[in-house]
Amino acid sequence: SVKKIKTALISVYYKEGLDQLVKKLHEYEVEIYSTGGTFRFIESLGVPVISVEELTEFPEILGGRVKTLHPTIFGGILRRDSNPNDLLQISEHGIVPFDLVVVDLYPFEETVKKGGTEQEIIEKIDIGGISLIRAAAKNFTDVAIVSSRFQYSDFLNHYIASEGTTDLTYRKSLAAEAFRITSHYDTAIMHWFNGWPLSTAEKRPLRYGENPHQRGWFEGNLDEIFTQLGGKELSYNNLLDIDAALSYLSEFDDTTCVIVKHNNACGLASRPTAYEAWTDALKADPVSAFGGIISLNCPIDTRTAEAISGIFFEVLLAPDFDEEALKILLAKKNRIILKYKPYSPGKILKRSALNGYLLQDRDHHTDSIDDLKYVTNRKPTDKEIADMLFASKISKHTRSNTIVLAKDGMLLAAGTGQTSRVDALKQAIQKAQSFGLNLEGASMASDAFFPFPDCVEIAHKVGISAVIQPGGSIKDQLSIDYCNEHNMAMVFTGYRHFKH
Ligand code: 5GP
Repeated sequence: SVKKIKTALISVYYKEGLDQLVKKLHEYEVEIYSTGGTFRFIESLGVPVISVEELTEFPEILGGRVKTLHPTIFGGILRRDSNPNDLLQISEHGIVPFDLVVVDLYPFEETVKKGGTEQEIIEKIDIGGISLIRAAAKNFTDVAIVSSRFQYSDFLNHYIASEGTTDLTYRKSLAAEAFRITSHYDTAIMHWFNGWPLSTAEKRPLRYGENPHQRGWFEGNLDEIFTQLGGKELSYNNLLDIDAALSYLSEFDDTTCVIVKHNNACGLASRPTAYEAWTDALKADPVSAFGGIISLNCPIDTRTAEAISGIFFEVLLAPDFDEEALKILLAKKNRIILKYKPYSPGKILKRSALNGYLLQDRDHHTDSIDDLKYVTNRKPTDKEIADMLFASKISKHTRSNTIVLAKDGMLLAAGTGQTSRVDALKQAIQKAQSFGLNLEGASMASDAFFPFPDCVEIAHKVGISAVIQPGGSIKDQLSIDYCNEHNMAMVFTGYRHFKH
């Protein structure tokens, strides 16, 4: 099933980037066939190319509406190399079999977005190109299909690595992508005809997925969320962390800074100024902050920019930057600086599981003072209530099982993504202590109920005085009793905030 590419049919709307591909094909002695504009482009590169019209002995007609729609072309794409009849027929009709088809469709969506007239839009409904893609994809057993200009580099990598050939697995993956592209294209046309808004989601190739040996894409519209002012290309993991950072910040109205690592906050503080918020966010875990994603919900001034520049970070996100601050931040070329716009996260969350998708409502509940049920003899003080609600907002966006310890509008430490709640608490305590943070009088938030009183016991021993949790365990009373015996205040919210 490994096939050497001997012939290629190329018909692309945008010619940018095609030169590299064409030159490489020429290097491997591929015979290239092409339509009008593409033909002229390839010719201008000094690469030998044969026009489709020469093959079909039929001119391009109707102002380009009919270029490749011809049995000679489609016979050359759809013939089966393993079928003797097919081969006999193509030789009888002088049909050239194509091993590779490269298409980049008319920019239909772009023309709609640019506000083209009805006639302009209709002319941008690609007919031949879509047919070329579908035919080549159907015949992936014998043909490789590159169905958009965004695939050139990926294709070239494979092509060069396999020394001018393609294998069946790769050709099939190209076909899968081809049908994704054609269905997206036709969906956009359908939307336009029905007067519906176009889906704004676009597929953006990423350098790689979570790891360098995995491919990766983003589907959506990042331009609606932020503008990149500097730094290297955003990675798959950067995007996940940015999502987490914005989710944390969505909970806070006060000036707040969050530092995210691996989707969890390793620092978060609400303070009167950006500078203080940054400084106190960093205190919770200056080690993890290294290489982290930093986000603030207020403009970055010079002083804050100078302070943040002192550490190595991957991404800094803020709604705005003072001019001087931006200069300081852009001085280091690799660091990604993003200016984000008002962002409201979608209401439905989707993730893949078992070859399908799981969908659910976003956790839209933020625990508030009205939710609190005071279950201990000692009522929490106002300050404890503020700290508990602050900690609970953080725990809602942190991986389960989690325990969040906070005091005075500052995250002290969190245990994240642990398989037991006790482990999460122990991790949080150990972290806070290792960075010299005082847990005396701190508040503790748990994303789910305590099945046993062990967590409140451990918490008490390090000076934690107030506890917020959903409640609902059959052994709640044991935790309540322990708190009562040790002058701790505990509240139930009735809302669990699992995040797996
Ligand atoms: P070129 O610039 O080479 O003249 O045209 C390339 C474009 O024509 C590509 O976007 C391709 O999808 C499209 N195309 C190829 N064959 C046909 C056809 O028969 N009819 C129409 N409408 N478009 C075609």
